[in-house]
Amino acid sequence: MCGIVGYVGPKSTVDVLLGGLKRLEYRGYDSAGVSVINHQGQLETRKKAGKLTKLVEDIEKAPLGESNIGIGHTRWATHGAPTDGNAHPHLGGEHQKLSLIHNGIIENFSELKTELLLQGAVFASETDSEAAAHLVAAQYAKTGDLTESFRTVVRRLHGAFTILVVHEDEPGLVLAARRNAPLVIGLGDGENFLGSDVAAFVEHTKRAIAVGQDEIVILKAGSVEIENFNGEKVTHEEFTVDWDASAASKGGWSSFMAKEIADQPQSVGDTLMARVSSDGYVNLEELASISKLIPNIDRIIMVACGTAAYASEVGKYAIEAWAKIPVSVELSHEFRYRQPILTPNTLVVAVSQSGETMDTLMATRYAKEAGASVLSICNTQGATLAREADAVLYTHAGPEVAVASTKAFTAQITAIFLLGLHLATVRGTQPKEDLQVIGKELLKLPGDIADVLTTTDSTRALAKKFKDARTVLFLGRHVGFPIALEGALKLKELAYIHSEGFAAGELKHGPIALIEEGQPVIVIVPSPSDPDSLHAKVVSNIQEVKARGAQVIAIAEQGDAEVSKYAAEVIYVPAIHKMLAPILNVIPLQIFAMELAAAKGLDVDQPRNLAKSVTVE
Ligand code: GLU
Repeated sequence: MCGIVGYVGPKSTVDVLLGGLKRLEYRGYDSAGVSVINHQGQLETRKKAGKLTKLVEDIEKAPLGESNIGIGHTRWATHGAPTDGNAHPHLGGEHQKLSLIHNGIIENFSELKTELLLQGAVFASETDSEAAAHLVAAQYAKTGDLTESFRTVVRRLHGAFTILVVHEDEPGLVLAARRNAPLVIGLGDGENFLGSDVAAFVEHTKRAIAVGQDEIVILKAGSVEIENFNGEKVTHEEFTVDWDASAASKGGWSSFMAKEIADQPQSVGDTLMARVSSDGYVNLEELASISKLIPNIDRIIMVACGTAAYASEVGKYAIEAWAKIPVSVELSHEFRYRQPILTPNTLVVAVSQSGETMDTLMATRYAKEAGASVLSICNTQGATLAREADAVLYTHAGPEVAVASTKAFTAQITAIFLLGLHLATVRGTQPKEDLQVIGKELLKLPGDIADVLTTTDSTRALAKKFKDARTVLFLGRHVGFPIALEGALKLKELAYIHSEGFAAGELKHGPIALIEEGQPVIVIVPSPSDPDSLHAKVVSNIQEVKARGAQVIAIAEQGDAEVSKYAAEVIYVPAIHKMLAPILNVIPLQIFAMELAAAKGLDVDQPRNLAKSVTVE
């Protein structure tokens, strides 16, 4: 879950490392640390519990020596509390000349630690990671060959890891290894970089290589070698990063979250770009590698976690309605443990912003082994999920730094809509003209989102009003149901308020008992022009909760006069095709949660206990 940076080259290493960590801090932020080898050839390490600013302040007070090589880490603790001592890097060897950082969990660390303790190693932390530092140092003491020792040790580790090592005896070398955790190389001119993702070095270079599973990188200023754990050379193609460095900075906004909410006209527009023609025709060239399967798909299983699972839930309604393929949505971490039935005609769609979500990766591997094909929907080039899937549909949301997802969510829904329309077109399940009508509606989304973003005053005022609410309930039907779930999740994540989303029809089967005088209930109201009269049913649900004392806030279509009779407050959004409404409806909920959290004085970009990219199971 953590962020990892490595550098070797002529620039000021501390600046490169801290800049990279800043861009990766969303991955974990309970402690941070760096090690450099200074120009006198000595290893210097500094680490601090707390956010990255604590480390930065410490280094400003007492600068580290000039150096051209180093490693840096932001931690999301799994073993041992977030303290200075447990922060990475960890040192190894009798003279502490080796420094190591680790992302992931070393599952056999306890057995390794016992072995090391018997050999007299002294542990300075409670982490699993420190065992690896001592092991490499001990092996090196025996062999005198750092790379060979590193190779030997990584073969012994179980679980998930990206590990970076530097050693005083090899002041021009960073060693790295990865298994089940992300690692990308940045290629420079006379300098090279390592990062958990490209955000770590995009400021310096756009040339990148994604490191494969069970591979080792031997990084020097003038060369990069990749090999497998057996020491055999491996080559990978270079790719060009299409993220702009400025996209990963706040650019004047009060928070990354505020910026990312405001980015949505662009991120949805970029995700649609070159995939929908101006007459609404959708074609996804990215699916060429699974084109033979498309006519034969008899079932789609979407695997995802958290917000991505809610995006998939929205997608389920659309794909079933348009492409007439049965769709189920599964939480990735539950999926592979219940022996799901998969056949060669099953398409598994794995949705993950980072493309590194460990639960989703594991679900994907399980599906592939069982003979299914996998399409991944992710936002990060070179991500493991993208590489392991049979096809990739990228969302083009740009870097999302705030931990609570906003623009990645709407871009995921957009991509899934495109998938549904593409499948329907290829399989001929709907008249082309009908599909083109929806395609054209998709093209309206960026403009409509921009409209929603210009009328947020009442949402902001409501957030302040409900700042001390103990519970907030969210109701929705049809595609509004997953949006109710997402609205509740945003509030939990950001404002630490207990909140629940319910299918409005479920209310009378239990949850209505929760309603008491003054209870805030946010209701996603379908369009009054909905042919299935869902609108009337939701308006009845509003009346039911209002009769029991609820304060109802409705998110409704512009011109919906009926709803204003019963709801205490109405937030209006532009009219759009019923299936696409979630993308507009969720925006006031994002703003509501963000403003409410800000009114409580909370950090909206880095909520407590969370990390963005969940790379442990
Ligand atoms: N398991 C390690 C620890 O708790 C690394 C956690 C991480 O990936 O940040 O320190």
